[in-house]
Amino acid sequence: MFTQLALGLSLMGSASVTHEHSKAEALAELAWQEVEQQAKLDPRHQADIDADTKLGKDYTEQVEKEFKLSQNAAYIERVQRIGAEIAAIARKNQVSVTWGDKRLNPFDYTFKVVEDKDINAFSLPGGYIYVYEGLIQFAETDDELAGVLAHEVAHASFRHVATLQRESAKLQSLTLPLILISIFSGSQTLSGVGTLASLIGIAKGSGWSVAAEEAADYGGLQYMLYSEYQPVGILTFIERLAKEQRFMDRIDMGIFRTHPPSRERAERLVRHLGERNIPLRRSMASLAYRVVLRDAEDGQVAAVFDRRKLITFAGPDARRRAEEAALKLNEFFDQVPDLFDVSVRSGNIVVGRRQELFRVREEDAKAAKVSTEELTQQASAAIKRSLYLLAYRVWDGR
Ligand SMILES: [Zn+2]
Repeated sequence: MFTQLALGLSLMGSASVTHEHSKAEALAELAWQEVEQQAKLDPRHQADIDADTKLGKDYTEQVEKEFKLSQNAAYIERVQRIGAEIAAIARKNQVSVTWGDKRLNPFDYTFKVVEDKDINAFSLPGGYIYVYEGLIQFAETDDELAGVLAHEVAHASFRHVATLQRESAKLQSLTLPLILISIFSGSQTLSGVGTLASLIGIAKGSGWSVAAEEAADYGGLQYMLYSEYQPVGILTFIERLAKEQRFMDRIDMGIFRTHPPSRERAERLVRHLGERNIPLRRSMASLAYRVVLRDAEDGQVAAVFDRRKLITFAGPDARRRAEEAALKLNEFFDQVPDLFDVSVRSGNIVVGRRQELFRVREEDAKAAKVSTEELTQQASAAIKRSLYLLAYRVWDGR
């Protein structure tokens, strides 16, 4: 009612209505919506929220006895800033919940950093979210970190622990939060905490953890769509972690093995993004997928992928030509093309899927001390090698 009234007023407003006035009105309306939102929770719903918050708070005390909190101010600032943005979105927006409590549950979220090198994060009931230093280091961009935080927020928002408690009488309540030690887990620490190891095992066997992870992935993605961050960040994070895992499997037979970042999860994310016509611009979310520029001697500028040089531009407008090439190369790489999509035209033009990527000039060749044709062939070969590496990083079932 109030909303309609406010709208009516502003429509009727004449030129004499000042800007200040309408701004104040808008603020009042926002405040009212907040009040309305809180008032909407019926007592039973409020009791559920309170119960989760209390349970979560109890667990934080146990957890913080077990783990040391980080003193790294930069990490804490980064996690809390991005976390607050995602939390605000989760508090306001009803999203599709494939498993868990489907209501809009407006928790007061808190985000803390654990001093530990593992790539891990977990979520306790009531919105208490912990991120390990190792994960913050591994996340290459805010987009990737936002993706992880959105996933953890979804676990809390969908009340996964309460849902598990309802669905299972077999599991003791202590077991439950540990299920939510999520995908991002490469942890020796947790499995090393004696009895916790066997409890995690029981939880993993239940099959509910899979449904919870799927729901958190999908919920997190929906939160990302409301945010300023690239939703593809969660995909690049999972893909890169999976690659890491292939090496770590040999040494770590712990949680990593029983609860991997699976190919199915990556494929599902790709499908969800496709349904919404969101292009998979991996280059925007992670350096591992991005062609970047490096200044070289004498004003030359090199285009580089994964620390390997693709081509170095020379001459007075080297910088501008390099920037144009990087844009086109990243668009091209984001399509995850095949090696045969790269070709050379007229001896000095490098082409990707029939689009010109860049031209090699005499001044480039001179600086490289080879012929123009030779340098063009070298660049083409370097791009193919990079595409080969890229294909190994992409994990979406194509
Ligand atoms: Zn999870």
